[in-house]
Amino acid sequence: MSIHISNGKPRVVIVGGGFGGLYAARRLKKADVEVVLIDRGTSHVFQPLLYQCATGLLSEGQIASPLRHLLEDNKNTNVVLGEAKSVDADAGILTASRFDGSTFELPYDYLIVAAGMRQSYHGQDEFIKWAPGMKTLDDALAIRRSLIAAFEMAESLPTAEERRPWLTFAVAGGGPTGVELAGQIRELAMHALTNEFRSIDPDEARVLLFHGDDWVLPSFSRKLSAAAKRTLDGIGVETHLGVHVTDVCETSIETTDKKTKEKRQYETRTILWTAGVEAVPFAEALATALGVKQVGGGRIEVEADLTVPGHPNVYVVGDLMSRDKLAGVAEVAMQGGRHAGARIAATVENGVPSRKPFKYRDLGTAAYISRRHALLQAGPVQLSGFIGWVSWGIIHIAFLAGFRNRASTVLNWGATLASKTRRERAITYGDPETARQPYN
Ligand SMILES: Cc1cc2nc3c(=O)[nH]c(=O)nc-3n(C[C@H](O)[C@H](O)[C@H](O)COP(=O)(O)OP(=O)(O)OC[C@H]3O[C@@H](n4cnc5c(N)ncnc54)[C@H](O)[C@@H]3O)c2cc1C
Repeated sequence: MSIHISNGKPRVVIVGGGFGGLYAARRLKKADVEVVLIDRGTSHVFQPLLYQCATGLLSEGQIASPLRHLLEDNKNTNVVLGEAKSVDADAGILTASRFDGSTFELPYDYLIVAAGMRQSYHGQDEFIKWAPGMKTLDDALAIRRSLIAAFEMAESLPTAEERRPWLTFAVAGGGPTGVELAGQIRELAMHALTNEFRSIDPDEARVLLFHGDDWVLPSFSRKLSAAAKRTLDGIGVETHLGVHVTDVCETSIETTDKKTKEKRQYETRTILWTAGVEAVPFAEALATALGVKQVGGGRIEVEADLTVPGHPNVYVVGDLMSRDKLAGVAEVAMQGGRHAGARIAATVENGVPSRKPFKYRDLGTAAYISRRHALLQAGPVQLSGFIGWVSWGIIHIAFLAGFRNRASTVLNWGATLASKTRRERAITYGDPETARQPYN
């Protein structure tokens, strides 16, 4: 069964309501087309602040804005909750599944795919059970749950020996997400929880950061990377460089030194995985349907105008696209989404294909290390410490979707700086069977 929304105008189907998809839809607001934006979630998630949600600083509502609300003024746009499954490129039909698993079809004249990437375990998918990744809102909430539960477990145990693994947190991957997460766990322990427990001292929490390279944050300059390492040392994150995580289980993590091949085992009950990404499953179905090969990490290579070779009506933008070694960062996705939207609008308006090449303007990258310390790298400008932190804050607030989220996030940051507490820490046993038991 197909969803009939056609009013005779060219139909643009956008897969994904992340940065690429949202900015494509916004660019098409005034175009003489119908737009259907389909996402497997109801919200646009601001991934750069996921780690603050995972560590109890921000609520899920502050980093996720309902797509319907964000696009309510786009009168030509329908938002659909569904998961894209396959494509019939000849017929121009996308097949997707609803929340209940039933399927439906979405005919399209133009397709923009901005479905992003997911966490990669480099073929060791058995790690997922004990080492969750952080790519989605569900991931962040699950991580928050395991962090808070670990401190609570430690508090309830009688001996230091039993508590130790619960107060040891291992993070695999020293890119921005791993560094931000490791720093925030230490801050949670040092500032937010420090006076609230009676048996344990949360400040004793060990945070171990494992990274395969010889310096953290390899996408930043060596100077900024060294500054980040000093800050991490200062707040007590134990950084282990030049090691690969070679095994994880419920109670420990094993690392292997890249040079000496020496193996080390660390007892821990909380392992978090940020070491690598791969294409979401839909990418394979798309590549097969379009007759193209997937490249690094399953990405799809695009032409200079961001269309798929041989398919001038299909665009791939954001993290999922491969073009000129552009990084998987929000700005690439936003500019790519805008570009695809602009090309379709121009094609429809002028009646001739608009194949203008995509030109990326690098506005720089930023990473949070700890309170009053962040990095900003934009061309020759390299900022760290307090100035980097202020710049980081301004940039993140500017790009957070929705005025209400911006205002409440600033208020929340201010309150946390002043009071040191973090309020987003509610967890329960979460077992409906238990919840139904009468109290006695
Ligand atoms: C923890 C974290 C921190 C980050 N920090 C930064 C940072 O500080 N600065 C920066 O520039 N970048 C950062 N990034 C990267 C940035 O968030 C991504 O580059 C950006 O989100 C990519 O946008 P996108 O639209 O390609 O994909 P996404 O934003 O990932 O959106 C993809 C969307 O597609 C949907 N989707 C997936 N499959 C399907 C399907 N089959 N059907 C329907 N919908 C589907 C998903 O639900 C999602 O909404 C960070 C990423 C993470 C995970």
